Amino acid sequence: MKIQAIKGMNDIVAPESRLWQMVESKAREVCRNWGYEEVRTPIVESTALFHRGVGEGTDIVEKEMYTFEDRNGDSLSLRPEGTAGVVRACVEHGWTIQNSILKLFYIGAMYRHEKPQKGRYRQFHQFGIELFGPTSSRADAEVIALGWEFLKQVGVKGLELRMSTLASESCRKPYLQKLTKILKDNIERVPQDFRPRIETNPLRIFDHKSEEAKALAAELPRLMDSLDEESAQHFEGVKRHLTDMGIPFVIDPNVVRGLDYYVHTAFEYVSSELGRTQNAVGGGGRYDGLVELMGGRPTPAVGFGIGLERVLMLLSEKSEVVRPDLFVAIPESENAEVQQKSEEFGFKLAVKVRSEGHYVEVDLDGRSMKGQMKRAVKLNSRFVLIVGENEVQSGKVVLKDMDNQSQVEVPMSQILDILSEKL
Ligand code: AMP
Repeated sequence: MKIQAIKGMNDIVAPESRLWQMVESKAREVCRNWGYEEVRTPIVESTALFHRGVGEGTDIVEKEMYTFEDRNGDSLSLRPEGTAGVVRACVEHGWTIQNSILKLFYIGAMYRHEKPQKGRYRQFHQFGIELFGPTSSRADAEVIALGWEFLKQVGVKGLELRMSTLASESCRKPYLQKLTKILKDNIERVPQDFRPRIETNPLRIFDHKSEEAKALAAELPRLMDSLDEESAQHFEGVKRHLTDMGIPFVIDPNVVRGLDYYVHTAFEYVSSELGRTQNAVGGGGRYDGLVELMGGRPTPAVGFGIGLERVLMLLSEKSEVVRPDLFVAIPESENAEVQQKSEEFGFKLAVKVRSEGHYVEVDLDGRSMKGQMKRAVKLNSRFVLIVGENEVQSGKVVLKDMDNQSQVEVPMSQILDILSEKL
């Protein structure tokens, strides 16, 4: 039997892995500049965590989790998203109690047993941030702006920010009762697979992908049309701060998060380049009720999760191939002692130049001189240094500039200085 990778889980290698590195370091850089610290939580958690934190009545928990029993008979799951684990860690270690404001980010693999297709995998990666503490609309705007800045800096094409408000809990409650009643009264128009959701998650009718749901949703009353003063003010605040920061947005009442602990702002970063059904690059919102639900003290929170596979699909740039600064060529010698000496010199020098921060290649499989030069050309090395019999005997090495084909003979003792000057 041939052993293969699991369906929907990808191997990544250069040149693509180079783009991954660029995207991840950009995420780290943006977070550093906005004061977000990295948090790393386990990939495996108790299944109960996700039932509570992601929520019963979600596709993720009902159909998509990788759940298994470990050898003790405990039910564990691979994390399908990042927030639940981060909140668990905050509550477990009291982080949100010690800090009136806590700003965290994570980058890591997530697992969902979905139908694999372009842009949808069973193992995928998310960059996410969570901001704990502030209730102000400034916090929502900061989180949205950070994600926007990251996506812009990385070079995502066709980017658009879509936003809505889920209002405060007290404002939403009567609306949800009304919505549930209307859906029940029109049950024949509600898609079959959505019917069990009417009680648990009625808002999600607005982001159901079927045509019949869309037609029905267009006729339903909107939460945004019945906001109380607090909810309206909060939403206005977010819009104003985003405008102040020069971030364009579109109000889209179909952006919903169907869980009780979500309040106020909900948003999505989408790209026109991704196609109609899977155009989301990332999404987030305010989830003031979650920390308490996980057993912590009530702590306001807002965050997002961005899918890195989708980000990579949207990059216009191809990764640049990194060229070596130096290729150390060691010609073969019939004299074993000389050969050893040139090898010793060549390898020592390579290590030294590398430790000064330069990229150096050395011949690793004893090719002929011609073969080594060919490889240096193929790698597009900036310089080649030849360390052979004549060179070892004369104490001088030949440094060849591959860009203009000039070469100079330099004393071995000065080679480091000369290279540092040229590189
Ligand atoms: P969600 O946690 O479902 O709001 O997802 C946040 C982001 O993660 C989405 O906008 C996607 O970019 C990405 N994402 C979610 N599920 C997948 C998947 N199965 N494969 C690839 N990316 C995904």
